[in-house]
Amino acid sequence: MLRLFSKAHVTFLICLLGLCLKAFTQPIVIDRIAPLNWWVGMKDPRLQIIVHGENLAAAKVVINYPGLTLVKENKVDNPNYLILDLTISPNCRTGTFNIELSRETEVKRGRKTTTRTFTKTIPYELRARTDFVKAQGVDASDLIYLLLPDRFANGDPSNDKFADMADTQADRSNPFLRHGGDLQGIIDHLDYFKELGVTALWLNPVIENDQPLTDEGGSPRSAYHGYGFTDHYQVDRRLGGNDSYKKLVDAAHANGLKIVQDAVYNHAGVNHWLLQDSPAADWLHQWPTYTNTSYKEQPVLDPYASKLDQKVTSDGWFVPFLPDWNQNNTYVKNYLLQHAIWTVEYFGIDTWRVDTYMYNDLEFMNQVNAALLAEYPNIHIFGENWTKSVPNQAYFQQNHLEVPFKSNLPGACDFQTYYAINDALNQEVGWDSGVQRIYATLGQDYLYENPMKNVVFLDNHDTDRYLSVVGENMDNYRMGIIWLLTTRGIPQLYYGTEILMKNFKDPSDAEVRRDFPGGFIGDKENKFAEVGRTNAENEAFDFIKKLANYRKNNPALHSGKLTQFLPMEGVYVYFRYDENKTIMVIMNSNKESISLETGRFRERLGTFATAIDVLEGSTFNLNQPLKLAARTAYVFELGN
Ligand code: CA
Repeated sequence: MLRLFSKAHVTFLICLLGLCLKAFTQPIVIDRIAPLNWWVGMKDPRLQIIVHGENLAAAKVVINYPGLTLVKENKVDNPNYLILDLTISPNCRTGTFNIELSRETEVKRGRKTTTRTFTKTIPYELRARTDFVKAQGVDASDLIYLLLPDRFANGDPSNDKFADMADTQADRSNPFLRHGGDLQGIIDHLDYFKELGVTALWLNPVIENDQPLTDEGGSPRSAYHGYGFTDHYQVDRRLGGNDSYKKLVDAAHANGLKIVQDAVYNHAGVNHWLLQDSPAADWLHQWPTYTNTSYKEQPVLDPYASKLDQKVTSDGWFVPFLPDWNQNNTYVKNYLLQHAIWTVEYFGIDTWRVDTYMYNDLEFMNQVNAALLAEYPNIHIFGENWTKSVPNQAYFQQNHLEVPFKSNLPGACDFQTYYAINDALNQEVGWDSGVQRIYATLGQDYLYENPMKNVVFLDNHDTDRYLSVVGENMDNYRMGIIWLLTTRGIPQLYYGTEILMKNFKDPSDAEVRRDFPGGFIGDKENKFAEVGRTNAENEAFDFIKKLANYRKNNPALHSGKLTQFLPMEGVYVYFRYDENKTIMVIMNSNKESISLETGRFRERLGTFATAIDVLEGSTFNLNQPLKLAARTAYVFELGN
């Protein structure tokens, strides 16, 4: 027998058999499904599922499950997609239903053509909603700590890099590459946040960024910052994946800490799976030649704006490797909106911070915000509206402006008070400079629906570090921290400020995103521990800790009213008060000590006779001029 077939014959016959088998057994292959699961009992009973595989457009879909209705099978230009519209009745059974796909394929056997049907069953889980802690929101009683997961602490060195990802590198000696920090590293330091007085963690985005290294001015850069999503339903493996994120949220909640998720609707990573095999050209904003957003907000709200400028702001790409979603495409809209709901319901997220808010389709953002707030009435949503005027910032959130477009965004990263406090600390006082800037900026709060929902900050991952901005001067440093923790709104601290991390964004923003010392194996110093910190660092840490913990226990500093007095002779005085307590804050911005007459503040001092310095413990007599040290702020609790 063997002699009848040469080796070549055998190979040929095996190949032929393989081809025949393939023709007979072309199975339906599914490689992606989104969302990963859903729930019974959501306010909105609709669910849109995107299924990706090979040639699914020709497939028939059957779903038989009590309480579940397949409303529509949508086809898009690319035959590799099926998009299913379902409604889930409130009494629908929880459990796993099957999406049955069948596809008829013509198979040729010699001259004969027969039809063969291939089938595929996709199990899909409908969960019961559980009442675990979620969507608590953050408010002015909180202190948010913003950190970059890749740069904070490496709790699992085994996940630093993966050979099968687009960027295979991790190297702590290179500021532009990944450093290996992860969610476990954050879980390992929950006690640190609690000690400091932090009540909420805002992580720069955790969603998968399977992006290639990019060239941004000479040196290849990784997407360690996290703003280029490539699969919304996966937390990046290098941070620990979905399981680790769930573990972090649960552990944070168990420790009384909330989680703020950094959301990006405006753009995707160029490697996003939906764009690698694009469903249709109109999923992205397309331009005849590459067009970047101008990064200018004015064309969106300027009554004299040209349509072109408006379109460039909104539809231009953020950078060449972060393409701009077309949020007017129904499927894009649903994909992004459902993901927001899924994330809160699945992980238990408390608050939503929206990146590059101004460049989104603002009507679309109103829809997302409304959906989140309808499902989770206590959630907070604040956006990044990086403008340089109060009215322009107010335009993008709930406001008292008479304008054609009305935003429903509850709050914003308050860039206006950020600029103002930096001017207050760095400028000589004048008619409209120095401490006058912070007074005048807060004086425009009448434009906001609720300024208490704004997040106030001294620095973040995109700015120069606070300590450097104030000239590494500790008097300035303390004055700004006191303002941050006593003014109106929700304070946010950037990681490392408490241990005197410094730097300008020179030569790049990596300088303000350095590793937290002690978070990584081999670190010579451990700034998480008192013994690892220098005296100066401990003084800074203890200063923030003391004031943050005082703040935590004093509602007058959260929900209390604010009265501010016109700064005079370089001294800025304001009061936070409710029916139980009055707190007086005095900022002496002068380079000399002064004596401050208290008569001008009598309307708020009332019958209070004494002021206890909550940081130093000393008592002042309010019926005498107050001796104020140079470049010093005081937090006084008033008493009789
Ligand atoms: Ca790691």
